[in-house]
Amino acid sequence: MAFEWDSVRPIALCCASGSPDDPMMGGLHVKDDRHHTARPSAPATDGPPPPPRPPIGLPLLPDGRTALPKGNPCAGCDHCCRYIAIQIGTPRSKKQFSDIRWYVLHKNVSVWVDWDNNWMVQFQTTCDWLVDGRCSHYALRPDLCREYDPAECERYSHTPAEKIAIHNERDLDAYLAKREARLAKRRTRTNGHKAKAS
Ligand code: SF4
Ligand code: SF4
Repeated sequence: MAFEWDSVRPIALCCASGSPDDPMMGGLHVKDDRHHTARPSAPATDGPPPPPRPPIGLPLLPDGRTALPKGNPCAGCDHCCRYIAIQIGTPRSKKQFSDIRWYVLHKNVSVWVDWDNNWMVQFQTTCDWLVDGRCSHYALRPDLCREYDPAECERYSHTPAEKIAIHNERDLDAYLAKREARLAKRRTRTNGHKAKAS
């Protein structure tokens, strides 16, 4: 099945580096115009496989960015060459949430929301150029792969990349139940204000 690309806004993806000539490993990251966001960690059972290693807690710089270790920050990691993520519109209608259900009913597809409330659909699928943990066409790697700043990847993040992670139907139903409760509260509040005003 194909996406309705009209309703989907691809976002820039980016990447660390890696080639036999370069000690750095490959990496592909989700990015919007403001910052990079790495993939959220996955559940133990279904959904995308977990990242290759847990985040590494490193000191923060005064500007809030992570102080990276000396040397290659991507050493031993190729996590971000193993998925793509595309920004989608914020779902509001029944139909749009039905689309989200359709996404996550597929294996290795998940949906998540970043801290700026951007909704993403993610496909856990490895880049063909990733060979033995390195980019086999490093000099030709796409622009998105060149733009990545590892300081903003989940390996070095102090917080989870995602605010909401929907790996499967259960996650979606739990999210929808919470959302409905929130909306019901808001409706009650609004009706209370209206009643007071009349
Ligand atoms: S350390 Fe971060 S940027 Fe580097 S390969 Fe791993 S996930 Fe990608
Ligand atoms: S082209 Fe593929 S293997 Fe190379 S850095 Fe980009 S995502 Fe990784």
